[in-house]
Amino acid sequence: MKTLNNFDFNNKKAIIRVDFNVPLDENFNVTDTTRIEAAKPTIDYILSNGGSVILMSHLGRPKGAQDKYSLKHILNTTSEILGVPVQFASNCVGAEAQEAAKNLKPGQVLLLENLRFHDEEEAGDVAFAKELASLGDIYVNDAFGTAHRAHASTTIIAQFFADNKCFGTLLAKEIESLNKVLKNSEKPVTAVLGGSKVSSKITVIENILDKVDHMIIGGGMTFTFIKAQGGNIGDSICELDKLDLALEILRLAKEKGVQIHIPVDVVAANDFSNTADTQVVDVREIPDGWQGLDAGPKSLANFEKVILESKTILWNGPLGVFEMETFSKGTIALGDYIAAATANGAFSLVGGGDSVAAVKQFGFEEKMSYVSTGGGAMLEMLEGKILPGIAAILD
Ligand code: AMP
Repeated sequence: MKTLNNFDFNNKKAIIRVDFNVPLDENFNVTDTTRIEAAKPTIDYILSNGGSVILMSHLGRPKGAQDKYSLKHILNTTSEILGVPVQFASNCVGAEAQEAAKNLKPGQVLLLENLRFHDEEEAGDVAFAKELASLGDIYVNDAFGTAHRAHASTTIIAQFFADNKCFGTLLAKEIESLNKVLKNSEKPVTAVLGGSKVSSKITVIENILDKVDHMIIGGGMTFTFIKAQGGNIGDSICELDKLDLALEILRLAKEKGVQIHIPVDVVAANDFSNTADTQVVDVREIPDGWQGLDAGPKSLANFEKVILESKTILWNGPLGVFEMETFSKGTIALGDYIAAATANGAFSLVGGGDSVAAVKQFGFEEKMSYVSTGGGAMLEMLEGKILPGIAAILD
């Protein structure tokens, strides 16, 4: 796996695919700088080793060139974070970009305009990728969030760099963290899978059954499993067409020696609302008119025991409807258990889908070993897919 250390950047121009798809307020101020900060180690490394840097990214989902999606809005913030002036080319290809790239001196940074102002980017157009490639000597991919897309700047461009391509620090860290969970893991390994639906997690479940010792299944998925086993789930969320699949997963887990832990009790509500009446009930005896919206205390005690004994933990998806305070306690408790296990030396990875939102909201970010920056990309890696952006560098 080639990383920055494999190259001498002295007097070289590195063209880096970053993920600067940051949120902006109505005055075009960057409201969350996480993604720009995440790219800083890669940029710093290249600059301090005598190279110059050409940054390319997308921002939002523009239809053609739309001023509100211009990357010029993030120029000042990027400059502040990097601590160096950042030049700007108002088109990512063409004469202006060529000229700016040609004149770039060691230690200098150039930001190209939004790649998605050109339809060729998402279409993975080869000629467009070649034009981008002509700007730099070494291609670095540091955008994990788009690594599952075969776009011009994330994948197609790599073919023009033969051996002169590598992963940036951030992308390398993502791959390494996932490998720590799925390949070189210390046992026991526990995966916690929550969220709303079995259907969106099924490929992940199937793929990781071979790699884990324990699987905690929570959130809305719980009820498809309980219903399949003959329980009364009241009005809880359930995928009736996935009942057989749920039983098949339980059978497979048994065959593979994976211990499955499903909530035994839940916080049930008489309405999908923060102010609903609630009661803790046995998960197999939820009254009609009531729905399970969070894990109950007995379930949490079971999960705590499993987590505290684990040496490797993967967390994907909340245990309840954490967006409503009344049903956030299970997810917060789970975060506390994983934080405690991590403090005790376990390796914990949080990622995929919405999980990162919960982790940030409840302040667990610093307490996990690694929090992934890519929702969809991480989910696809957990499904066992080889992401095109990663494959293109490994080629
Ligand atoms: P996902 O994107 O699949 O990780 O699902 C996250 C969503 O699952 C969150 O918006 C939660 O509110 C939702 N969720 C978790 N538990 C339940 C539940 N018991 N019933 C309905 N939705 C749930």
